[in-house]
Amino acid sequence: MSIEQQISNIKNEILDKADLIAVSKTRTIKEIKEAYNYGQLKFGENRVQEIVDKQSKLPDDIEWHMIGHLQKNKVKYIARFINLIHSLDRISLAKEIDKQAKKEERIINCLIQIKISKEDSKFGLKIEDFRHFYKSLGTYENINIIGLMGMATFTNDIELIDKEFKMIKRIYDEMASIDPKFKVLSIGMSDDYNIALKNGSNMIRIGSKIFGKRNY
Ligand SMILES: *Cc1c(COP(=O)(O)O)cnc(C)c1O
Repeated sequence: MSIEQQISNIKNEILDKADLIAVSKTRTIKEIKEAYNYGQLKFGENRVQEIVDKQSKLPDDIEWHMIGHLQKNKVKYIARFINLIHSLDRISLAKEIDKQAKKEERIINCLIQIKISKEDSKFGLKIEDFRHFYKSLGTYENINIIGLMGMATFTNDIELIDKEFKMIKRIYDEMASIDPKFKVLSIGMSDDYNIALKNGSNMIRIGSKIFGKRNY
């Protein structure tokens, strides 16, 4: 199926319940342009060098989302244009984003990434550390925390995925009730976005279902 058809199918499924972020990591400029020409304006990448390169070659009205683990020393390369950082998970990173945002005279929107899976490879803040972390962020004027991001375990166990999404939804609801800026719950990828939508996701990050299987 073509990129256009896949985007159209997903949009028909999600209607206006969620924002669709097309995850374009490893994809060519040509593939991204195909999605863009069809009207897709939000793209997610997980590597700084790749997002900077693509941003310079593609139209200015694209919204770029940083969805992968972010190293402090690379924040300076994306601070000028990044629309949303999904992977804020430590104070040292918050401090650097704030510093670079100030330099660019911008306020950068961020999601706090919560570790909901027990898999070792997943980054993110432990649930039990969340409240303390959130409180410590109050001092950073050039960061705007607008919600949470999470990645479920890579498994066929639907119940486990459902349980993990429910964990993050509970914190999200609690935060949204006290902080009016909280409005994004970024959960759901190609294989689990239906479970995420059932659990209140309003931003899904879809790569392989749009562009086909990645070769890594
Ligand atoms: C790669 C990636 C996605 C998209 O994965 P697919 O399974 O291809 O949809 C979503 N979120 C993050 C953080 C990713 O790294």
